Order: sequence, then structure tokens, then C-alpha cells
Amino acid sequence: MSHPLSDRINSLPTSQTLAMAAKARELRAEGKDIIGLSLGEPDFNTPDFIKDAAIEAINQNYNSYTPVDGYLELKEAICTKFKRDNDLEYKPNQIVVSTGAKQSIANVAQVLLNKGDEVLLPAPYWVSYSAIATLSEATYVEIPSSIESDFKITPAQLEAAITPKTKMIFFNSPNNPSGTIYSEAEYRALAAVLEKYPQIYILSDEIYEHINYDSKPFSFAAIKSMYDRTITVNGLAKAFAMTGWRIGYIGAPQWIAKACNKMQGQVTSGANCIAQRAAITAVLAPVSKIQYMVDEFKTRRDIVINLLREINGFKVNVPDGAFYVFPDVSDFFGKTINGVTINNASDFSLFLLEKANVATVTGDAFGTPNCIRLSYAASELQIREAIKRIKEALK
Ligand code: GLU
Repeated sequence: MSHPLSDRINSLPTSQTLAMAAKARELRAEGKDIIGLSLGEPDFNTPDFIKDAAIEAINQNYNSYTPVDGYLELKEAICTKFKRDNDLEYKPNQIVVSTGAKQSIANVAQVLLNKGDEVLLPAPYWVSYSAIATLSEATYVEIPSSIESDFKITPAQLEAAITPKTKMIFFNSPNNPSGTIYSEAEYRALAAVLEKYPQIYILSDEIYEHINYDSKPFSFAAIKSMYDRTITVNGLAKAFAMTGWRIGYIGAPQWIAKACNKMQGQVTSGANCIAQRAAITAVLAPVSKIQYMVDEFKTRRDIVINLLREINGFKVNVPDGAFYVFPDVSDFFGKTINGVTINNASDFSLFLLEKANVATVTGDAFGTPNCIRLSYAASELQIREAIKRIKEALK
């Protein structure tokens, strides 16, 4: 007998990143030695100076509801950070602090999208963008890219995807899952197209901002003509190794921030008070304090790329940021390896889980079905062992 769940939840896909992490956990509990390269989660501890701020907040009895959109001190600190790192002028009434950047994005979608609106998603895109658009009753339109273009879309592609129903576009640089970073010039070229369509709002997800290896990412809202219709999303999870603390935030036109505040007031009442106090210390800290993690990610990126390049059939580019590689594995499609026929990236990812005991995520989940995602937010030892196993399983 089927349970009387809503059409909404029945049609919602499960988050593939979280599902794969759960599957790896389950197999481990059964005694299998699974190496998890599926979840985008830094394997570092939260830095001590942030932990100390949280402990102090507990001892100072920060235990009550916070303002729905966040403590004023935190919103001021975020404005300081936006000015310092992104050359963006926001006032505290343009900031909303949420329970992770995922909630920030969901808030924005809920307050801006109506049934029938179209959301453009340059692919590959993070798994939850499409689900969040669908939950808002909008439809999403993928703009494809491939490893040959370093997973970037062109202004011509953007223009071709726009219809009278287009309401939003989601940008994400550095990108999850490809690690691609759009340069300022590339962003300006895309903005030149959007200038012709004033009805389109831009969500710029900059959660991987600090995890970049050669060039500082550019904030979309720093383009003057885009500022009034861009929502800048960021958070603490990735750069500060604070995934479980769940603090994300937006900088947005005030009317959008006000609407997100109203939405959040009915859904969560605001983010955790202790995590917010610690976040004040984190966002105000000089970026140099977290550089050791970025340096380590860079070392691992180089290791992953070099090792994957040694495997026939893996097409690999060099990602500039985040902590993912997104190889094209379409060479394996249609082949039978170790008795298993691989028809697509999901088959390939499952094959790696079952035959190599390595958890990855299929590219289908990111709108790019030729690829799989490997997260290198794992120790060097684990990365080397995982790729050794992959190589052996594919022999
Ligand atoms: N953003 C991370 C990832 O892509 C964490 C899991 C999730 O929220 O999707 O792996």
C-alpha cells in the first residue's frame, strides 16, 4: 500500500550527494572498507579560534532565539567581509543569515519563483539547484557544457536559453562539481547578455570562494549593472570546515532580503545561536588563517589529476577551485568490465562502489551525464588508495 504523501515529495528526487554518502556509511557498517569520495566535506577540524568563540558563546548563555535574519553583529561582520573580499557594499538590512547556504538558496527560490517560471542552470550544477527550483514550482532549463570548454557556458548559449518565462539564473563559481572558476571577463560577457533582459534575477553561489588555487574568484554582483538583481550566496561550511554548523547567508537587494526574512520566520525562526556567534569570529578572521587548508587541497588536486590521467578512459581537466574533479568517463560507456556492462555514468559510479569500494557521485545528478564527481576533501592516503583501487578494478 502506498502512503498518502504529497505529490511534492513524491516527485522530489533524493539528493544524490547525501544518498551516496549514506550508502557508503551503510556499507561501512556492514564491514566493507569503503573510501568515500562522494561528499563535499572538508576532512579538517574546525579551526580552534572558531571553536573557542562557540565555547565562549555557550558560557555567556547565548541560548535564546536570535533575530530571524541573524544577530546584528553577525550581519555587520558579513558586510565587512563582503567589502573586504568582494568589493561589495551591503548594509545589514540586505543580509539574511540562514541554516546553511542550502536554506539561503531555498529561501530565495521560494520568494522569487512562481509556477511556470523558468530557472536557467548552467550545467554541471549542484544537485540541489534543480530540486529547489522544482519545489518552488518553477521549471529548470539546463545549459550544457563539457570538459572541452572547461565546463563553462558561452554568452551565445546563455542568450539562446532565455525565453519570456526566464526569471532566474544560478551561477556557481568556483563550481560544484567541476571546480571551474569564471574569470571577471567571462562573467562580464555573460552580464552583457543579461543586461538586455531586466526581468532575470541572478543567484550567485560563492560558497567555494576561498578555495581557489590561482586566481581570486569574481563576485557577480560586483558588476554594477547586475548589483540590483543579484543575490550573493555564501556560507561557512567549506572554507572554515564548518559543514555541520549550518551557517549560510545572502547579500541581496533589501526587498529580497526582507522577503527571505519573512519566509524564514515561518520555517526555522533563524539559525542556531551558538553557530552564529562563532560565525562572527570566522567571517572577520583574515583569510590567511585558513590558507593551510587551501594549500592542502591544492596538493591533493594535483595528486588526483596526475593519478587519474594514468587511467585509460578518464578525460580530466584541471579545476581551479573547490575540492572536486569531474572527469569525463564516457569512454567506458557500452563496455563490459569485470563482467559488468557500463551503460552510463550511474552504472560506472555503482561499478566503482561495488568493485573498487570507492564512493563517487554520478554526473547525471549534476546535469552532465558523461562525468562522475570525485571529492578530494579526503586524506592523501585515502585518495592514493582509492585511485589505485579504481585502476585495478578497471584492468
Ligand atoms: N555540498 C556538498 C556536496 O555537494 C554537501 C552535500 C550536499 O549538501 O549536497 O557534496
